[in-house]
Amino acid sequence: MPMHTLLAGAVTLRREQHGNRLSYSRKVFIPLTRLCRDVCGYCTFATTPGRVSSPYLSPDEVLAIARAGEREGCREALFTLGDRPEARYAEARAALAALGHASTLDYLVTMCALVLKETNLLPHVNAGLMSEEDMMALKRVSVSQGIMLESISERLCEKGGPHYGSPDKHPAARMAMVEAAGRAKIPFTSGILIGIGEMRVERVASMLALRDSHARHGHIQEIIVQNFRAKTRTRMAEAHEPGLDALLWTAAVARHVFGAGMSIQVPPNLSYEDFPRLIEAGIDDWGGISPVTADHVNPEAPWPAVPRLAAATAASGCTLVQRLAAYPAYALDSLTWQHPDLAQRVAHAVDSEGLARVDRWVTGVIMPLPPEGRGDAHDDALGPLIARASGGARLGEEEIVRLFSARGADVDLVCAAADDLRRRTVGDAVRYVVNRNINYTNVCTYHCKFCAFSKGKQHEDLRGRPYDLSLTEVSRRAAEAWDRGATEVCMQGGINPYYTGETYLDLLRAAKDGAPGIHVHAFSPLEVSHGASTLGLSIHAFLERLRDAGLGSLPGTAAEILDDEVRGIICPDKLVTAEWLAVMRAAHEVGLPTTSTIMFGHVERPLHWARHLQHIRDLQAQTGGFTEFVPLPFVHMEAPIYLRGQSRTGPTWREARLMHAVARLVLHPLITHIQASWVKLGPDGARAVLNGGADDLGGTLMNESISRAAGTQHGQEFPPTAMEELIAGIGRVPSQRTTHYLAAPEERRAHSFQARPLADLVQTPFIAQRHANA
Ligand code: SF4
Repeated sequence: MPMHTLLAGAVTLRREQHGNRLSYSRKVFIPLTRLCRDVCGYCTFATTPGRVSSPYLSPDEVLAIARAGEREGCREALFTLGDRPEARYAEARAALAALGHASTLDYLVTMCALVLKETNLLPHVNAGLMSEEDMMALKRVSVSQGIMLESISERLCEKGGPHYGSPDKHPAARMAMVEAAGRAKIPFTSGILIGIGEMRVERVASMLALRDSHARHGHIQEIIVQNFRAKTRTRMAEAHEPGLDALLWTAAVARHVFGAGMSIQVPPNLSYEDFPRLIEAGIDDWGGISPVTADHVNPEAPWPAVPRLAAATAASGCTLVQRLAAYPAYALDSLTWQHPDLAQRVAHAVDSEGLARVDRWVTGVIMPLPPEGRGDAHDDALGPLIARASGGARLGEEEIVRLFSARGADVDLVCAAADDLRRRTVGDAVRYVVNRNINYTNVCTYHCKFCAFSKGKQHEDLRGRPYDLSLTEVSRRAAEAWDRGATEVCMQGGINPYYTGETYLDLLRAAKDGAPGIHVHAFSPLEVSHGASTLGLSIHAFLERLRDAGLGSLPGTAAEILDDEVRGIICPDKLVTAEWLAVMRAAHEVGLPTTSTIMFGHVERPLHWARHLQHIRDLQAQTGGFTEFVPLPFVHMEAPIYLRGQSRTGPTWREARLMHAVARLVLHPLITHIQASWVKLGPDGARAVLNGGADDLGGTLMNESISRAAGTQHGQEFPPTAMEELIAGIGRVPSQRTTHYLAAPEERRAHSFQARPLADLVQTPFIAQRHANA
């Protein structure tokens, strides 16, 4: 096959699964020991006891390197070391004894644990040939491991070959370790070294051996194609080095052999100034790059600085992204691929695509916003997608995922397009509604794993006592809200086992008794479903009764992520997607408008966001009943699923911005209002998303308790004065609205600006007997 055809095919394959991205791991290199029992003919890393001041780095030295990396944004601690030097050198045995360890691997386990305990770095270990037992011991303290196969050719171990005298380099021994790693479910790195005397056919045979192992276990996360560099003072100092063409050919063949999904890595430093050309071979990863430490294996070849790597990647039309030592697929499925002690660390370190979280923003926490995207926009596909969405076209799943994949300056591009579309669609007004939340009970029989609000018997002390408001208190709160200028009460609660459909009707009447003119926005689809079933009514019939009793609209909560794969994880006993949509459809059909929501940043991925947006758009196309779309970033702090180590820590700031912008584009022109949740984003975050597609600030929320139970720090009321200051501060026009997006009556507005402080709440305790007697 001609070279240009081979390369073009490899690039096409890379694009299929990796798009226009090249990843790297920001790391420190920790050479725990440079002594080795092997004597490979090309190696300058290994040395002898007489040439080093100490056989091993001390714990303080290890920690100093790790901390220096942490300060520079590194996430990987790469432990590379010689192979069991204690088998060869008395000095190594003595040093280990002084350190209190029986073996190099034993000391390595302790040093990995130290780095994990003291820093946010995640260890990857390259510790030479190991048994399955050794690897299992290291799995407790490292997120990935590796060994280069180098070559499957036994010829190279013969006298005169580069591996002569290095029993650990025997291909059968190395492949046995690769297999053992697969059985142990360890995300594993391997690869080949080219130019050490092997033939091309032997390179391919090496790849096929690794491919077969991966087919059996699915554990090889990357294939490294490394080119031999002749080093002075080695047996192979005068050996011929492979040229760039040979490297490109091998990397491209690796892409073809392993397919679109595998990560193919070529270290950039070993190609010096030619490294940008490696992208021509269909690679998708640059490997570990350190802003702090040298490549101790190839000290003559410094890594390109990250900005230079990013610029070279961009010049090839690609975007540089940072990953962890564990590749995205293995990081996202950390329960399968990590030791239970580390699964939580990994889950908390990644974003929705399994890449490293590079901004520190946390939903609900008062903190500065991360800087906007940097560098040039790179994804040529975004422009046409934005144009189609802005023209009202329904985007497909993959197209929406592509919009969500924007990084760096591409995020700004998407947000600017959404902002422009917002201006053309709804103008410069930013609306808000003066309202009060009344969460009448926190008693709930459901087990949503993200919910910190519901009260079960097990966590009484963690989240306060169970309560169940009296109807008198509901009336009082509605009346007080009306006095303070509210036009709406928003009422939702847990699924209290003592509640029936009549209870919901009573709650509705209680609110209306307290404030006859108030709009009651109440009852999640789950509550509607529960109420209907307890009365033996259809959803339609129950909604008609609620409507006739004065219900004005429904909150589109309980949607979480409209995908049953995700719902099966986060809320397995709740309504499935079709049921949620059916309640919304029924509400729209009986004349009750609803909002729509998404709760994002926990276990789901961009594909699920795409499906969710499509469901909302499709139903809206049929009913027109959604008033707005409300992105709700996941607040993780008190969520049981987070506390058990099974979720991410909410969306990154990039993801939060994109959700508002992409929703604006994807739902256009069917849903025109995109709401910023100030209680989750905070005032700064709300300002930013209002400049990136959103046009509404939601409610003033006189008593917000659900988000506060989850751990948000953004307060419980955002009064009209503060709302209007925020809106005017970004050059937009404040507009107090009703639930139906009409201008609030002047009399309501006037009251809202003269509100007295709220009276103390009465949290009527939950007493089962009260319901039993009712
Ligand atoms: Fe209950 Fe709603 Fe919490 Fe689920 S989210 S546990 S249904 S209160």
